[in-house]
Amino acid sequence: MYAREYTDANAGNISVRLGADRLLMTPKNVCKGFMTPDMMCITDLDGRKLQGDLDPSTEMLMHLEVYRHRADVQAVVHAHPPTATGFAVAGIPLDRAVLAEVLTTLGSIPIAEYATPSTSELPEAVRKYIKAHDGMLLANHGALTVGPDLFAAYYKMETIEHFAKISLVARMLGRENLITRQEVDRLQGLRGMYGIKAPAPICADPASLGTDADTKEAADCQVVQAPSASGTRLVPDVIDARTASMRPDGEGEIRLTYRELSALIEDAIRNLR
Ligand SMILES: [Zn+2]
Repeated sequence: MYAREYTDANAGNISVRLGADRLLMTPKNVCKGFMTPDMMCITDLDGRKLQGDLDPSTEMLMHLEVYRHRADVQAVVHAHPPTATGFAVAGIPLDRAVLAEVLTTLGSIPIAEYATPSTSELPEAVRKYIKAHDGMLLANHGALTVGPDLFAAYYKMETIEHFAKISLVARMLGRENLITRQEVDRLQGLRGMYGIKAPAPICADPASLGTDADTKEAADCQVVQAPSASGTRLVPDVIDARTASMRPDGEGEIRLTYRELSALIEDAIRNLR
């Protein structure tokens, strides 16, 4: 994680189940780039330290919360990968149907509400999404992933950061073609074929959940933004109106600054004279 710049200084933390009531956890105040095996802590599921010279991670409560709600989870990874965290800071969830592989593995990546790091607020924010998601952004903080083993959880962190980078590039280019709801359903069917154990089904139609999808106590499906369309599997979706010229129908909106608009008007007046 440190080599890939998912963490800086002492940030980020990892834990893994050692048995029914024991966790191996990274310690507090240690840079993950310089961590050695002897620094690791062993705790029980209530966070009591059983073994280790150093104290467990300051985000231990968030890890414990995940294990309490997900018996299937064997490992938890938390980091601050810069591009994904940028989305978390901008308040933009990674929930658009754009990459087939992300849809089959993670589904959608929602943003857990802002919470003060290291406090009991953070596990509360995570609780809303952890039942149905293996990965989420933490508002103005970072990302959290879980998995059936340590590397599965870590690879989901890589997938989220990679997805965030691709989304950022597509949005800078001014458009994203979205995978249709029908295709999303087909991809969901492939989960079984590939043996992918997602914690919850994708609900590609947020409208069917009613208007309170965001305020529900705990999400029980993965909401993916996927348009409905027949006869086509990708639907163009213009994000930035400034790239109107890239729209095939030429109907895009153009935004100008006040200075640009004034210059255009002055030019037009000059031409009239
Ligand atoms: Zn953090």
